[in-house]
Amino acid sequence: MAKLFTKEYHRSMPPCIYCKTEDPEKFKGVEHVIPRSFGTFGAKTPTLKCVCDDCNVFFMKELDQVLARETLEGVTRYKKGIYSREARPQTKLKFSLAESPEVGDFHGAAVAVDGTTGKLMAPPAQYKILNKQTGKHETYRENQLKDLKITDEVYGKPGERETGIIAPSHDALDAFIKKLHEAGIPYKEKERYQPPFVKAMEGMPDDGVSTLEVTIDGKIDDTVKRALVKVLFNFAAYNLGAVEMLKSEWDMARNFIRFAGETLKGRVTQKPFWDGQETEKIRFLDDSYNLRIENQNGNVVGVLQFYNLFTYEFILLESYQIPPEQEVAYRFTPGQEPFIGRKMTMPQYLKMQRPE
Ligand SMILES: [Zn+2]
Repeated sequence: MAKLFTKEYHRSMPPCIYCKTEDPEKFKGVEHVIPRSFGTFGAKTPTLKCVCDDCNVFFMKELDQVLARETLEGVTRYKKGIYSREARPQTKLKFSLAESPEVGDFHGAAVAVDGTTGKLMAPPAQYKILNKQTGKHETYRENQLKDLKITDEVYGKPGERETGIIAPSHDALDAFIKKLHEAGIPYKEKERYQPPFVKAMEGMPDDGVSTLEVTIDGKIDDTVKRALVKVLFNFAAYNLGAVEMLKSEWDMARNFIRFAGETLKGRVTQKPFWDGQETEKIRFLDDSYNLRIENQNGNVVGVLQFYNLFTYEFILLESYQIPPEQEVAYRFTPGQEPFIGRKMTMPQYLKMQRPE
């Protein structure tokens, strides 16, 4: 009887579901199915013990941070009051001020969101020029000026170019003009933005009064995909168990996530996540993360949707099926215990909250 708790028992712990290490010393922490930066879910916050500490640290640095800071989902969490610990500007997502009376000549200016407050930071010094071919304003920071080639066919003839300089302060403006000069970029003295604009921007992030519309440009690259698929793989492990995940059929997904191996097939849609009362137009107002694992056309597909934004579908396994009773859908709302649905059928509590 006592044998159940001998060392042998502990050694039978399964290997890491990502790198397959069996070193028992490397399982001190737990992996959160949904990165902690997106909140926790009470006593039932889903975690995994079958992910080793090396993989856990790797994911935190390489994938979770990208999902949390450099995606639409990541910055949307600021709107929900979930903040980062650092104010570091985004590098993959591009925010630019949309055209509006408040913004005036600043429209098109590149800005960033302060992750500790969810508010816009004052724009860094930049050169703005209208690309006549695309009809879009381009902005160039100090370190990008060297790559800028101004040609007549792209930007128009010298007298017809629409250009400007944006800077957070007078000193920054003067310093930036010097840099433009050094880079051989033509500008006219009258193109300098006047101090009142600069002042308005300086006051903007703190007074909490201005709400400015921004345009967000981003790309779902392989790193973002890996971060998303990792959440689904974690979710699959949470529901199907480590023994299932260690089967060789899951190797392609595992290698993609952990070692940047061959990419998985996937698509992004605006489809509603839950079948039934939810439609393209009617969505649920509460802000949650929806995850689902299901058999679809002979493959195992993982679906996720954060904050009613995009619906991502990935083929986790081709030509494979999980037992139908293990197809599962969950709805996670920060601060609340998760709700379990069955495949596309929404949880009972959602039916009661349907907006009229
Ligand atoms: Zn590992």
